[in-house]
Amino acid sequence: MLLEVRDLHVEFHTRDGVAQAVNGVSYGVDAGETLAVLGESGSGKSVTAQAVMGILDTPPGRITGGEILFQGRDLLGLKEEERRKVRGAEMAMIFQDALSSLNPVLSVGEQLGEMFVVHRGMSRKDARAKAVELMDRVRIPAAKERVKQYPHQFSGGMRQRIMIAMALALEPALIIADEPTTALDVTVQAQVMDLLAELQREYAMALILITHDLGVVADVADRIAVMYAGRIVESAPVHDIYKAPAHPYTRGLLDSVPRLDLKGRELYAIKGLPPNLMDIPRGCAFHPRCPMAQDMCRTDVPVPYEVSEDRRSACHLWRECLNG
Ligand code: SF4
Ligand code: MG
Repeated sequence: MLLEVRDLHVEFHTRDGVAQAVNGVSYGVDAGETLAVLGESGSGKSVTAQAVMGILDTPPGRITGGEILFQGRDLLGLKEEERRKVRGAEMAMIFQDALSSLNPVLSVGEQLGEMFVVHRGMSRKDARAKAVELMDRVRIPAAKERVKQYPHQFSGGMRQRIMIAMALALEPALIIADEPTTALDVTVQAQVMDLLAELQREYAMALILITHDLGVVADVADRIAVMYAGRIVESAPVHDIYKAPAHPYTRGLLDSVPRLDLKGRELYAIKGLPPNLMDIPRGCAFHPRCPMAQDMCRTDVPVPYEVSEDRRSACHLWRECLNG
């Protein structure tokens, strides 16, 4: 396994109290595999990814337990300097908002080239050639000329391609993309997603795709992990989840996206709001919003049940859900 997160716990200390952002998350990603991490905002999906990348805001954020094994090494045991070497070269991240992630006063060529100068010791001239090559790879037209331009001179979709190029530059084994297309127009979203999926296959990288949109993962992901209130509530191969969810929250998410194969069906919205992370409901955190909730759900935390060899559900009533 390329990456293994084991029983990760992260807290945020704020003036109002302690927010339990991640409450025992475990997941694994094989080389070349795509894992989609799905959930509403505040479910802990980005915080988990930031802990993996080693870019968590500390403080207020604090990892209070767990392990993050990458290529067999425990990343939480590394010094910041070693961590920095892993970042960029072995794992890279793509963020939602390219404009605030790119440096506004450097040309995109300088920023792309910098990766090769710093990590590979290349000359400026060779690094520039590499930058043009990368811009070609992510299909930015007229790369030779545009390499001299600044981030604000590109459209949102083109800037996101530049972010992808930066992430790819050193051919890392793992890319984490956090809502990479959320800020883009719908048609551009599909193009950027297709490009990312294509490059992921070509470079045989593992990809963790963080999204709140189940609509984008069907064609791209091998597996899905659904998060709620800092826990993974269901994890399974993507096709199993689409066929029949084994958790009411997954079902709610599925029923709230339009599907071509179920045209004419009424769209559903999960009632209520995600919980306050400073005061997570007892028992199953989803019980106040769950249409299937029983008395036991209000007292007993559902530990992940083994639905099948490669599938888990943290729902006491997973069987009923699967068959319903
Ligand atoms: Fe709903 Fe109970 Fe399952 Fe939680 S454990 S998702 S409340 S049925
Ligand atoms: Mg987020």
